[in-house]
Amino acid sequence: MRFDVVSMWPDMLRPFVAEGTLWAAQQRDLIEVHLHRLEDFSLQGRPMVDDRPFGGGAGMVMRPEPFTRAVEAIRSQIGRRPFTVLLSPQGVRLDQTLAKDLAHQRALTLLSGRYEGVDERVAAQCDLELSIGDYVLAGGEVAAAVVLEVVARMVPGVVGRHASASTDSFYSGPLLGHPQYTRPRTFHGMTVPKVLMSGDHEKIRRWRAVEAWRKTLRHRPDLVGLNG
Ligand code: SAM
Repeated sequence: MRFDVVSMWPDMLRPFVAEGTLWAAQQRDLIEVHLHRLEDFSLQGRPMVDDRPFGGGAGMVMRPEPFTRAVEAIRSQIGRRPFTVLLSPQGVRLDQTLAKDLAHQRALTLLSGRYEGVDERVAAQCDLELSIGDYVLAGGEVAAAVVLEVVARMVPGVVGRHASASTDSFYSGPLLGHPQYTRPRTFHGMTVPKVLMSGDHEKIRRWRAVEAWRKTLRHRPDLVGLNG
């Protein structure tokens, strides 16, 4: 799967994609990540990618042309229009189900804003306006990092040998994941539940299912339709 991110400051994302899961997935040719500097797509002779808001008000708004020119350049590079997402606190909220759906795309382009946000006509040309949560970041780069990692983990093969996405919280329904333990057996007076060392896989499976429910009811009853 191919990811493109268009941002004023793509260098913020370079170290993020050069380590860990995303780096390993690129090394194994499971994903490609391309970072683009928005300014490279500004109109000739006009390095500005932002301007004052029509109607007045504080701050600057990001102009539409550099974003649409960037998407057009990516489209001609890959020979088809990528699924295009504008990162915005006003978008639909990202969750695991949406991440799984997005991972079916062959090419995903993320447009990252700054300042007061992006001219509304960019959203009108995107396939999706996407928020990572009900709070406002200074810019879309951190949101892009979140979307990159969450969606890439859903690409077959990216989460492999050392982990399984299928036991994660939210993966196969609204439940949180079960508690995890490793060595030492006793830590600060707390011992690992005996069942996990019993070698009885059916008992362990049942214990984990019950604990996943217990944790969900304690931390996120809203996920299973109950009030907090
Ligand atoms: N004035 C805008 C509003 O009230 O909706 C907020 C603009 S925000 C300071 C600047 C940029 O950060 C946005 O254009 C978007 O790209 C990014 N951003 C901020 N919060 C976000 C969130 N929760 N999810 C996704 N992107 C976000």
